[in-house]
Amino acid sequence: MNAPAKTEEFAVKIPDGVYAETVLDVEHYTDRLFRFRMTRPAGFRFRSGEFAMIGLMVGDKPIYRAYSVASPAWDEELEFFSIKVPDGPLTSHLQKIQPGDIVLMRKKPTGTLVLDALTPGKRLYMFSTGTGIAPFASLIRDPETYEKFDEVILTHTCREVAELKYGFDLMEEIRNHEFLAEIVGDKLKHYPTVTREEFWHKGRITDLITSGKLFTDLGVPPLDPETDRGMICGSSDMLKDTKALLEKAGLTEGANSKPAEFVIERAFVG
Ligand SMILES: Cc1cc2nc3c(=O)[nH]c(=O)nc-3n(C[C@H](O)[C@H](O)[C@H](O)COP(=O)(O)OP(=O)(O)OC[C@H]3O[C@@H](n4cnc5c(N)ncnc54)[C@H](O)[C@@H]3O)c2cc1C
Repeated sequence: MNAPAKTEEFAVKIPDGVYAETVLDVEHYTDRLFRFRMTRPAGFRFRSGEFAMIGLMVGDKPIYRAYSVASPAWDEELEFFSIKVPDGPLTSHLQKIQPGDIVLMRKKPTGTLVLDALTPGKRLYMFSTGTGIAPFASLIRDPETYEKFDEVILTHTCREVAELKYGFDLMEEIRNHEFLAEIVGDKLKHYPTVTREEFWHKGRITDLITSGKLFTDLGVPPLDPETDRGMICGSSDMLKDTKALLEKAGLTEGANSKPAEFVIERAFVG
């Protein structure tokens, strides 16, 4: 059945062959960032860290964009963390959604930021900038991550302190969660940094790796392919520069078909 969308702006028929889900909750952080939760279709299976194509009917046409699922694979709802691009074909509309509205989702998730694409290790680094934290929001809430790794380090770099709030809220949620709190214990370390304001950790993650400050601050040894695994999600430049540093430390890039020591995914195209 094609469910009619609720608001007038989206009041058109839903295309066949896609899920049409109901928005449950929306939280705005800044004029550039928000998060929303929506119903999860019964048949929708994904691995924590994967992305799906999310869409809205705009006029009589659906517009889809890739979105990392930010909620973990066990969650009954789906969560997404989104940018607001002022004239963006999708997000200029998506940023206006309200509980009760309909969001479209294509049926097949995919992605390389999954635990299966990494060989076993001790310490897992998740390097993110901006909305690149989204796949890691999923993985840090998945018990499997802590079965596979003794230590999980999430770095999140943004321009301004206000843009870090989603990450801080995640940490708080995990600390207070009925079963995750115990599973995660002190295995998860959060390392937020900003580049354009004063803050307790300042600078680009690549500079913090190069100088060794990241490791000193965390009290861990420098990157080591024997023990350390990495996942990177950010802009094309951030991926290129961080990847080069991991390769310099002796880690090799993996994929679903060929697990290795680190994996990467672009947080957006452009
Ligand atoms: C694998 C993958 C996963 C993604 N996951 C997410 C996600 O979880 N959350 C999310 O908000 N976006 C994510 N994106 C980006 C998303 O697909 C869209 O680009 C974004 O929603 C903007 O859509 P738009 O149609 O409004 O503008 P678009 O026409 O898609 O983008 C316009 C311009 O805005 C900039 N831009 C787009 N997305 C971002 C972003 N996330 N951060 C900073 N600048 C951006 C780029 O310069 C881009 O050229 C992902 C992209 C890829 C490839």
